[in-house]
Amino acid sequence: MADLYEVLQVSRDATQEEIKKSYRRLAREWHPDANPDDPQAEARFKELAAAYEVLSDPAKRERYDRFGNSADFNLSDPFGSGMGGLGDLFDSFFGGGSPFGGSAARGRGPSGPPRGEDLDAQAVLEFTDAVFGCQTDVSVRTAVACGDCGATGAAPGTEATRCGDCGGSGEVRVVRQTVLGQMVSASVCRTCGGQGEVIPSPCPTCSGAGRVIEDTTYTVDVPAGVDEGSTLRLTGRGAAGMRGGPPGDLYVRLRVRPHERFERHGDDLVHELPISMAQAALGAHLMLETLDGFEDLVIPRGTQSGKVFKLKHRGVPRLDGRGRGDLLVQVRVEIPTTLDEESEDLLRRYATVRGEDVAPAEEGFFSRFKTAFKG
Ligand code: ZN
Repeated sequence: MADLYEVLQVSRDATQEEIKKSYRRLAREWHPDANPDDPQAEARFKELAAAYEVLSDPAKRERYDRFGNSADFNLSDPFGSGMGGLGDLFDSFFGGGSPFGGSAARGRGPSGPPRGEDLDAQAVLEFTDAVFGCQTDVSVRTAVACGDCGATGAAPGTEATRCGDCGGSGEVRVVRQTVLGQMVSASVCRTCGGQGEVIPSPCPTCSGAGRVIEDTTYTVDVPAGVDEGSTLRLTGRGAAGMRGGPPGDLYVRLRVRPHERFERHGDDLVHELPISMAQAALGAHLMLETLDGFEDLVIPRGTQSGKVFKLKHRGVPRLDGRGRGDLLVQVRVEIPTTLDEESEDLLRRYATVRGEDVAPAEEGFFSRFKTAFKG
């Protein structure tokens, strides 16, 4: 396991400030969004975050100094099992104690940088992709942390300074004389907007916002079993907050293209299957194309139109991962609308054998003709 000081590229006696600065720099460099083509970036980024989590906490750092890697730090998955993905990472990255906040004021009373906006996006999926899950690209116009100032909003080489009007508390107190005596009221400091600090020289790239607007494409993992109208929430994939504020969430609303044969009824798939009169009467052994490939479907003798055959677990995987729905095949017996001479002959003999009264051949044609004219 790598040495945490080496991971963060700082010396063993680095100050907390040095650790924070180095982490910020490396985290920007290895941020997965900045390295979309480097599969190792996310792992590196996680490693950085894990190292920072230990070394930024004096108690954990001391324990690490004393016991080294044998201390119970789980570096491979510092964020626990849970979602695992980047969502949690972002929470950790931008959340409480955010290195991007850069603000010593955080947690000391001032409101801190505001959270970024939630964003909405839409993705259109093929039917089978919704059934079995897929990855899809979602494009959004969003705000991302400004790389030039490390999301601080301060021009490179400068820093935010404590707000002189509120002394860094983010609020100002006003004392008023009233008939009831002195009343003290506190209100948000207008100079710093409650943040406790001001930026004397704003970053030219982001004009002090600490974030820039960008068109970004995320690759989204769509779980198996989603349906038309399902909405995925991607924690931390919304707009970056101003000046290192935590990011909002991204909501992806899913549309699903219809399938030419299958219809969704919850987790069940319904398939209407036309069969012939003879197949219904005599039975048949059919190969049915399901979403999983071809399956045997045995039509027993004497099957009536409308009969439903259930193929268990050939439906849609349940979103909670507990099994799959069924494939319901409803047969529809088709009566031929045209008959060649031989088929007609056979059917007539069939009717004779069964003693069924049917329209005579020529007259049948002729009467249909007349009926058509009568309207
Ligand atoms: Zn900037």
